[in-house]
Amino acid sequence: ATTLKLVLGDQLSCQHSWFHTPDPGVVFVLMEVRQETDYVLHHAQKIIAIFAAMRDFARRLRNAGHRVHYLAIDDADNLQSLPANLDRLLAHYQAGEFCWQAPDEYRLDRQLADYAAALPIPCAMADTEHFYTARHEAAQLFDGRASWVMEHFYRHMRLRHKVLVSDTGKPVGGEWNFDHDNRAAWNGIPWEPADLRASHDHSALWATIEASGAASFGAPNAADLRWPLNREEALAQLERFVQHALPHFGQYQDAMSFKAWRLFHSLLSFAMNVKMIAPSEVVDRVVQALADGAAPLAAVEGYVRQILGWREYVRGVYWHRMPGYDQLNTFGHQEPLPHWFWSGDTRMRCLATAIGQSLEHAHAHHINRLMVIGNFSLLAGLSPQALHGWYLGVYIDAFEWVELPNTLGMSQFADGGLLATKPYVSSAAYIDKMSDYCKGCHYDKKARTGERACPYNALYWDFFDRNRERLVGNHRLGMVYQQLKRMDGPVLDAVREQAARTRRGLAEL
Ligand code: FAD
Repeated sequence: ATTLKLVLGDQLSCQHSWFHTPDPGVVFVLMEVRQETDYVLHHAQKIIAIFAAMRDFARRLRNAGHRVHYLAIDDADNLQSLPANLDRLLAHYQAGEFCWQAPDEYRLDRQLADYAAALPIPCAMADTEHFYTARHEAAQLFDGRASWVMEHFYRHMRLRHKVLVSDTGKPVGGEWNFDHDNRAAWNGIPWEPADLRASHDHSALWATIEASGAASFGAPNAADLRWPLNREEALAQLERFVQHALPHFGQYQDAMSFKAWRLFHSLLSFAMNVKMIAPSEVVDRVVQALADGAAPLAAVEGYVRQILGWREYVRGVYWHRMPGYDQLNTFGHQEPLPHWFWSGDTRMRCLATAIGQSLEHAHAHHINRLMVIGNFSLLAGLSPQALHGWYLGVYIDAFEWVELPNTLGMSQFADGGLLATKPYVSSAAYIDKMSDYCKGCHYDKKARTGERACPYNALYWDFFDRNRERLVGNHRLGMVYQQLKRMDGPVLDAVREQAARTRRGLAEL
């Protein structure tokens, strides 16, 4: 009897043991379904890139001699949901067994587990063979602790996987973390590396997606799509990163500029999240660059920390806290997102740039996500759930397991501080220090009150004032509350008034 093996759109790893040798008794199933385009409003490039990569992957499997059943979004017999299509295909092939790979997302994990439990045939879930850690490994390491310090997890990972450690278990270079070297602003020199990613014309696919009725937002760039769509392109992207950007990655990791959307970041998150390349391959290549003398230790360590540390850590948070994590809202913030989240049309130059880049490229680098968009959202009291929907939709690399802990936990502190030891918020001063956004902005970065005062300033102090009870005991916020104390009286009253006015008029900012 035939075995049906389901491959999801973010499981495009040709290295997986499923694909080592063709087996005429196995049919691999890939499907483009409205269930997956519609669970949140997506950026157009995200839908195009995933479907195009799935099509490429299916072609590759067929060429390697595998049997593949591919359901395109506009196929007449596509029933547009996983269970409905699976029912039909299991009957069609008179399948004797059903297998799937462990989904990264709780929603799909439940759906497929429930589906399989009701089937009368043997079923089995396989590992994706992608991550360094198992779903619950981080939770076991933290063993019931209320706060999960990433650095602890990261050192454990370095030792366990012998990355940048000596034979005696000491960190290479004598320190575990070179973050103190990684805080430079960027003045345009060196210029960011040229964008040499392959360009694809996916206009025909885009027309099909639109005709299917799937809604989307953001620039499709269908005729000039620049995301890696298969393993070779992902490996080429990794090579270009190592050669041209990695040497400067550490130093400018937190820098922002309206002139350069990519700076020295790798743009590898999409390729890794759909599993075209494994995190271990990326880490090994970057560590090799250090051995070759092609990049400094601070850059290599900083980059390794993102993948071996943060990426695996947030996955652990996700599986530990789901279900229910997506509903947390410590501060009770309820404000809907202002309309300019979908247009970038605001006079705040930092937000216009960060949101504009997100809509244009389906990407923004970490500090734009955290310290511009997330920072403003938390200060303004936007609903973390609405924001979660926006982040999940807008970014090419957004899959719930990695997006949700970053948005809800790190950026919005909506979990009360599991990931972040204090809320990641700042006034205009930090944004001005790390970027060129404030020069030429309509708003005055120095002013706290008045028509032209930068909205971040009053909102920042008002945030700590409003949440005094919850945050005053946090030892990392001692200075903030000392300063706030000095502002008590008419100064603080004026700040409160300004912040209230700003919050009432978010749409007009
Ligand atoms: P680089 O800067 O080159 O970093 C290298 C790699 O490290 C990334 O590709 C990514 O795999 C990993 N990484 C770095 N930071 C993190 C992090 N905080 N958590 C997990 N992995 C990390 N990343 C996603 O992959 N998907 C998301 O949906 C996502 N949503 C985010 C939402 C918010 C509010 C914030 C603050 C961050 C989010 N991130 C997300 C993390 C990070 O911003 C992106 O991974 C990064 O910008 C991707 O671009 P890059 O590949 O050029 O990254």
